[in-house]
Amino acid sequence: MKAFRALLSKRFKADGRATIPVGTEAQRALSSFLSGINDKQIELSSRSACPLCGAGSGTIIGEKDRLGIPCRTVVCEKCKLVFNDSFLAESASVAFYKNYWRQIQWGDDPEKNFELRTGPEAYSWKRLAYVALKLRDGLKKIDVVVEPGCGDGCNLLPYHLLGKKVIGCDYDEASLEAGRRSGIRLVRGGTEELLKSEIKADLVIMF
Ligand SMILES: [Zn+2]
Repeated sequence: MKAFRALLSKRFKADGRATIPVGTEAQRALSSFLSGINDKQIELSSRSACPLCGAGSGTIIGEKDRLGIPCRTVVCEKCKLVFNDSFLAESASVAFYKNYWRQIQWGDDPEKNFELRTGPEAYSWKRLAYVALKLRDGLKKIDVVVEPGCGDGCNLLPYHLLGKKVIGCDYDEASLEAGRRSGIRLVRGGTEELLKSEIKADLVIMF
C-alpha cells in the first residue's frame, strides 16, 4: 500500500538494532534470522490495503520491532487502524517459530523454561485466574481447552491439573517435549493439526 514515512522517533528506524536487552545466545539466533531476511531466504509479506476499511494509503510510524526485526507499523489514513504492514510470510512464520523464537525469547533450556513458566508465581496461573474470575461457575462447564501457538504448553498446564482435557499446537519440538512430560497433549504444527484431532473446544485461549 502507499505509505508516507513519519516515524514516531529515531528509535523506530530500521537499523536492525534491538531496543531491549538481548543475551549472547539470543543475539546469535536473532542475527541469523536477520541475515535470512536480508538474503531473502526468509520472506516478509505486506498488505495492499488496510485490513479493516480497505483504504490504500497510510503513515509509517515505525520500521522495526523491539528486537530490531523489520516491522513496518502503519496508521491507516482513513480509519486510523494501527497495523503491521511487513509481517512474516506463512513459510517464514513456520521457520521462525520452529527454529528461532525459543532461542531468541527463552534461551536453550526448554525444561528450565517450562519450570519457570509454571512455577507458583508464573503468569500461566494468573491467566487461569483471570479466566476463572470472569467465568465463575461457568468454568465448571469447560471440559476441553485448546491453545494454538502454545509454546511449551505452560498456559494449558493449570487446566490440565484441574482435570480438563487440553490440547495445544506449536512448531518447536523441544518446547513441546518439555510440556508433554507433564502429560499435556501437544502436537507439532499449526492449527491444521488441531483440526485433524477433531476435538471441539469449549474454550480457546490465545495470548
Ligand atoms: Zn483503515
